[in-house]
Amino acid sequence: MPADKRLKEYERKRDFGKTKEPRGGTSGKDDEAPIFVIQKHDARRLHYDVRFEVDGVLKSWAVPRGPSMNPSEKRLAVPTEDHPMEYASFEGMITPGEYGGGAVIVWDAGVYDVLPRSDGSETTMAEAIERGHFKVWLHGVKLNGGWALTRTGDDGNWLMVKLKDKQADARRNPTSTQPKSILTARTIEDVAAGR
Ligand code: MN
Repeated sequence: MPADKRLKEYERKRDFGKTKEPRGGTSGKDDEAPIFVIQKHDARRLHYDVRFEVDGVLKSWAVPRGPSMNPSEKRLAVPTEDHPMEYASFEGMITPGEYGGGAVIVWDAGVYDVLPRSDGSETTMAEAIERGHFKVWLHGVKLNGGWALTRTGDDGNWLMVKLKDKQADARRNPTSTQPKSILTARTIEDVAAGR
């Protein structure tokens, strides 16, 4: 499906006369490694929006507690609507009262690799998301290493879990110790206060 069709839900939820969020319209670059972004978003409930570039849009999950470095911690990841590529650098205030109203910072970003399936065979993100399970290697500023996302049951929710690799570290808790934007070094409280 072309990106403009997949962004219908994104567009329907927003009034672009009222929000500074990007409208979308340009698609990703084909010849470069796909990007990921994790945005910390202080909406009705604080959460982390984990987004992966897939075929010209950002496939998205809301992770209330954010990613963990500990392979024994399972983090709920609720799928949300596809976002336009331009959203990857969005940071600021979404007008209170509008959809998703509240402060947003770019908490981490970089490129990612899709890891092979357990049997060693290659897969694409689109195919793996459809199947309900994928493993990625994140090359971020804060996050490096492998994570798995898996659809869990009939409710449509997923879990995000750190893979057991050398980067796994149960003592590291970057959502607490590295709270700032990688773009502007602001905290979400700074953005909410208009700094
Ligand atoms: Mn959000």
